[in-house]
Amino acid sequence: VVISRFGQHADVECENGDVLRCNIRRTVTSLVCGDEVIFRRAKVSEGDLAGVIEAVEPRRSQLTRPDFYDGVKVVAANIDQILMVSAVVPEFTPQIIDRYLVACEDMGIEPILLLNKVDLLDDEGLDYVDEVLDIYRDLGYRVLLVSNKTGEGIDELKALLTEKNNIFVGQSGVGKSTLVNTVLPDAAILTQEVSENSGLGQHTTTVSKLHHLPSGGNLIDSPGIREFGLWHLEVERVTWCFKEFREFIGGCRFRDCKHLNDPGCLILEAVDEGKISELRFDSYHRILESMADGRAGARAPR
Ligand code: GDP
Repeated sequence: VVISRFGQHADVECENGDVLRCNIRRTVTSLVCGDEVIFRRAKVSEGDLAGVIEAVEPRRSQLTRPDFYDGVKVVAANIDQILMVSAVVPEFTPQIIDRYLVACEDMGIEPILLLNKVDLLDDEGLDYVDEVLDIYRDLGYRVLLVSNKTGEGIDELKALLTEKNNIFVGQSGVGKSTLVNTVLPDAAILTQEVSENSGLGQHTTTVSKLHHLPSGGNLIDSPGIREFGLWHLEVERVTWCFKEFREFIGGCRFRDCKHLNDPGCLILEAVDEGKISELRFDSYHRILESMADGRAGARAPR
């Protein structure tokens, strides 16, 4: 398993737990943290390089990010769950949740909605967020209310992470670093900057790294992969990624229905009949609008 990759080298963890620094064969065109690989030990160790990565096993999943130059870039492999963190402070925004959900649906990776900082809610606030979160529970998404401060939900969170490859995503300030430190007490390493002399000159980057969780399972983390955008998706794909819309797709009167105010639109009818939540429908249009004017990413294209 690739623990981390930097330039033409990668750290590979063997079945016995040893971590070997390997070269990457040139025929291996894509290699990211979380990849399972076949490697060959070097006969004579070349410097501190102990082997060569020969091939990559087929991936169960790929975490991708829009890339201005490459279209889409794979940033991690074999992720089982995306922990989508939102918080009541700075702001509880279902629209952001919907953006991340679209990305998760597109990648085919199971999302878990984590609402953090619930210690800051009074009873009324709690009722409000619970009502909104019911929309997601009804859609079959798993929702967990947590607080780093009081420890609420943390044991349940740790149990959810077990035996899976996990990643935390979400906007800045929602408490991701704090949560990572909570589930991975040994996390001083997490923010380390890798400074390596690879022959290409000294360069310092923050690379993604796979960490083992104390209770089993793994966490792949890097500040750079915690946020992602949607502007690479086609409109039809976004529609499909709203999973409650799927059954209505293709049934509207007009083939090029925009699901906005078009007559004979089945999705609009479903909203009117209360089968689709207005909040989700509103998010859908906001996403399409932001895609049209290039704002669809948590990070804008460079
Ligand atoms: P990140 O940008 O998502 O990594 O967020 P941080 O982990 O840096 O947290 C942002 C701020 O929220 C910090 O000041 C944390 O102390 C605070 N914070 C994190 N978790 C909680 C929580 O459960 N309750 C409260 N009240 N504050 C929290």
